[in-house]
Amino acid sequence: MYILLNGEFKQKNEVSIDVEDRGYQFGDGVYEVIRVYNGSYFAMKEHMERFIRSAKEIKIVIQHSAEELTGMLNELIQKNQVHDGAVYMQITRGVTGRKHLFPGKDVTPQIVAYPIPCSKPVKEQEKGIKLYLMEDIRWLRCDIKSLNLLGNVLAKQEAYENAAYEALLHRGEYITEGSSSNFYGVKNGTIYTHPANHLILNGVTRMKVADLCRKNGLTLAEERLKVDDLKTLDEAFITSTTSEVIPVTEIDSMKVGEGVPGPVARELQRLFEEMIINEEKV
Ligand code: PLP
Repeated sequence: MYILLNGEFKQKNEVSIDVEDRGYQFGDGVYEVIRVYNGSYFAMKEHMERFIRSAKEIKIVIQHSAEELTGMLNELIQKNQVHDGAVYMQITRGVTGRKHLFPGKDVTPQIVAYPIPCSKPVKEQEKGIKLYLMEDIRWLRCDIKSLNLLGNVLAKQEAYENAAYEALLHRGEYITEGSSSNFYGVKNGTIYTHPANHLILNGVTRMKVADLCRKNGLTLAEERLKVDDLKTLDEAFITSTTSEVIPVTEIDSMKVGEGVPGPVARELQRLFEEMIINEEKV
C-alpha cells in the first residue's frame, strides 16, 4: 500500500511516525475521511474546505494549497487502485520535544493520507439501527474535526456494550449528534437536525442531505430537538460519510414511530444514491 507522507508517496513499511509527533502525544491535529465510489472521490470539495477550516481553527498552517492536496489525493487512489473505499487524511502540528506550547516555525506540520477499507452498511441501511442515548461530555468546539476523539470513542463503546449501533448524544435537554454521525428526527412532515454550530460537527453528508431536502421540497428545520421530543418522532435517521443515510428504528428501548425505517429516510437514501451516481459523471 502507498501512503502519502508530506507530499511523497511511500510504501507502508518505509513510513515511521516519530514518538514525539504532537498528534501522538496531544491529539494535536485534525483529520478527514473521504469516500471513494467507483474510483472517484465523493464531495472532495466539501471535505477539503472542512479540512482547511479545521486546521485554521487550531492554527495549523497547511503547506499545500487545496488544489495541490486534491491532486495528491487523486494520485493516491490511482496508485493504490482504490475503486470503492475511503481515504483517511490527517495533519498534526509536527514533531518536537513534548511541551504544550506550540513549537517554532522550523517545525513543520506532518500530513499523512492512506486508503482505508469502507463498504456500504447494507444491512443497517435496510433494516435500521438502534441508538443508545447518553450525555455529550465532549469539549465545546465539536465543529473542529479534531484528532482528539476520546468523548466520541467512549460514547461509541458504551453504545456497543448496550447493543446499539451508535450513540445519541445530548447536552442537558438537547440532542446534539451521534459519536460519529449527525442525527435527524422527523415530526409532522418536518425534518429536524441540530444547527451547524460549535456543538456538532457539520457533516459533509449532513450538508449533502440538507441540499437534497431543499431541492426536493422536503421541509428541513435546522433546529435543536429535545430529549423529550424523541418519544413523539415519526421517524429518525443518521448520516455520515461511511453510513450514508441509516434509518433509526429504536432509541434505548423505545421504538421510533412504528419501529421500522420511515418513508423520509427511504426517500433520502434513494436521492443520496442518485447523487453519488450523478457526481461520478461530472
Ligand atoms: N459527527 C461526528 C462527531 C463525526 O465524527 C462525523 C464523521 O465522522 C460526523 C458527524 C459525520 O460527518 P461526515 O458526514 O462528514 O462524515
